[in-house]
Amino acid sequence: MSELNKIELQFKDKIKAYLNQNSFNTWVKPLKIVQIENEKISIQVPSKIHIDYIKGQYKAVFEKTLSEILARENPVIKFLIDADTDFSFEHKADIDTQTKKVKILPKTRVAPYKETSLNPKYTFENFVSGNGNETAYVSSLQVAKNIKNTQYNPLLIFGGVGLGKTHLVSAIGNYVFNNEPDRNILYLSSDILVQQLVNHIHKNTIDDYKSYLCTKDLIIIDDIQFLAKKEKSMQELFHIFNHIYNSGGQIVMTSDFHPNEIHDLDDRLKSRFKMGLITDVRPPDLETRAAIIRLKAEEINFNLEDDIVMFIANNINTNVRDLEGAVKKLYFYYSHFNKEIGINKAKEILKELITSKKSTLNIDKIQDIVSEFFSIPKDLLMKKTRTKEIADARAVAMYLCTTQLKATTTSIGVHFGGREHSTVSHAANKIQKKLNTKDPEVTKMIEEILNVINLSTC
Ligand code: ADP
Ligand code: MG
Repeated sequence: MSELNKIELQFKDKIKAYLNQNSFNTWVKPLKIVQIENEKISIQVPSKIHIDYIKGQYKAVFEKTLSEILARENPVIKFLIDADTDFSFEHKADIDTQTKKVKILPKTRVAPYKETSLNPKYTFENFVSGNGNETAYVSSLQVAKNIKNTQYNPLLIFGGVGLGKTHLVSAIGNYVFNNEPDRNILYLSSDILVQQLVNHIHKNTIDDYKSYLCTKDLIIIDDIQFLAKKEKSMQELFHIFNHIYNSGGQIVMTSDFHPNEIHDLDDRLKSRFKMGLITDVRPPDLETRAAIIRLKAEEINFNLEDDIVMFIANNINTNVRDLEGAVKKLYFYYSHFNKEIGINKAKEILKELITSKKSTLNIDKIQDIVSEFFSIPKDLLMKKTRTKEIADARAVAMYLCTTQLKATTTSIGVHFGGREHSTVSHAANKIQKKLNTKDPEVTKMIEEILNVINLSTC
């Protein structure tokens, strides 16, 4: 085995500890370390999506791991897709010009919306994949890359509002639009589809409409839950689906619910859906929420400090639209008043967005939950005991009190056996730093405790 192979194995082995199996298989397993030259490490990847994803999600952990294995202080990672395409973390401007250069698209394809009704801003590149949406993301990517030959037909993504369904299915359309310019794509919201079906039924031209739809390689139908109860439309749709399917077209759909939970949806349609892949999107976990907030801020060139990112991620766990709303609200303040925003100001600006259920949470409750989580008697949190386990639990409890409650560090200190406010800040900062560096153990632990807190304050 060559020296490079050994390093690659070691690298993958170490990275494994930070990722779940799915992510590891998708993003890390196919990588190849092809050259190491002083600080520069060249890694070959299968696609540009891998570069974007790794840059967005795993940059710090890649650098840290390589730095440990190779004893280099500042490793610089270069990505290669093939022999003459070269990307690196450092030169974003170069990457953009390079990718533009390789995309040779006919001039008429600059306004996807007009041709396809797709919103061009929803792409895979600006979608953060993580716990909650990983399967939907990976299957969407699969469909996009193998549009005429997918095992997932139809693909149906379901889940609550604001969790990225429209974004993902539009990303499929935009990907195909940009990579296979000859493909015929159509995006339809289900109300437009129903409108068109009704019109054609009325005018007796439904066969023309069917033929028109069969010319499409990809049809995206958003929010199919609205089709329920539209009996005549559903019947026609069932036939249309069969036609499209038989003529080799791919169908992609979204719904707020699993088809079984959509009452009054035609049973034949339900079973047609089940012949493909039904996958869900769930609310993102803490780490994914933080990554989304960073991306949304970066997209508008807004520099958000880590403590504010974590404050939003910790306190808004409903859906992505709400996370975006929080970033926009802070940005509005920042650009309107032209003032830097610190954590206290951010808390004040966002106070109405933070769920009211937090009012039922208090220091005592957080201490209960943390002591139970660590299986230690609650009163030890207030005492002077300094064994590592107790000190860790105390620091976690203090961190949660500072991030989840409006209480001042002084009053938190009082509830922890009369400690100084600086002790509370110090402990909370210690945990915050571990979260910032994505310490896997601490990140997972905080996430689990926050889940308990959320359940107990519903
Ligand atoms: P849904 O269709 O499920 O109601 P959308 O796709 O409209 O949700 O998403 C709502 C907003 O959140 C959009 O602006 C979208 O770009 C954003 N969004 C959702 N999930 C993600 C994600 N994982 N990464 C980046 N942006 C996301
Ligand atoms: Mg939607």
